[in-house]
Amino acid sequence: MRIRNNLQRLNGLIPEGVELVAVSKFHPLEALTEAYEAGQRVFGESRANELCSKAKDMPADVKWHFIGHLQTNKVRQILPHVELIHSVDSEKLLRLIDAEASRIDRKVKVLLQLHVAQEETKYGFSPAELMDLVTPELVSELRNVEIAGVMGMASNVDDDERVREDFHAIRAVFDQLKAGVFAGDDSFRTVSMGMSHDWPIAVAEGANMVRVGTTIFGEREY
Ligand SMILES: *Cc1c(COP(=O)(O)O)cnc(C)c1O
Repeated sequence: MRIRNNLQRLNGLIPEGVELVAVSKFHPLEALTEAYEAGQRVFGESRANELCSKAKDMPADVKWHFIGHLQTNKVRQILPHVELIHSVDSEKLLRLIDAEASRIDRKVKVLLQLHVAQEETKYGFSPAELMDLVTPELVSELRNVEIAGVMGMASNVDDDERVREDFHAIRAVFDQLKAGVFAGDDSFRTVSMGMSHDWPIAVAEGANMVRVGTTIFGEREY
């Protein structure tokens, strides 16, 4: 009942047009099942093995999103199960996903991960790196990857103003790409940003997809 109530409350707060990814990493199947029975269909996982094993046990209409750092040697394993990979953080990974998707004759949707937060350990492209990477040539070479948008995290700080600036910077890169390389391309439309503690700021700054775990499922036990 607790998870159902949490989801209901959250869905009442999240504005229309913003998609909720229920981040279920480290939580057991019973927790995911409760969310599923409350109507949730989009789940986010950050480890390849965990995603694949949950995908085998959950109903087939679940949409699995991969949100963690993806090692190249795990791409083949997750591709048959994922609807969207949020965390593409290198050109090498992008091209490998394309090659593996081609191998199984699929088109795979991805987001490009931006790093704007002050923490040094986070993965992702700087805004300048991403603008350099995404050229019309690259986009036409990637035959089995659909670049659907961008993903990012804000600094993990108490300072709301800094958090707002980080989200603003992520949205600005999206807007620049949307006005440039992806002009007129309806499939480039996702801005994935915001977690349990900062999603309202992310939405105010233009997120249309939020990734929320703790608020739905409670604290994770690692
Ligand atoms: C774990 C995780 C989340 C969810 O975090 P909560 O604070 O539990 O909402 C969102 N995005 C990414 C990339 C994560 O790894």
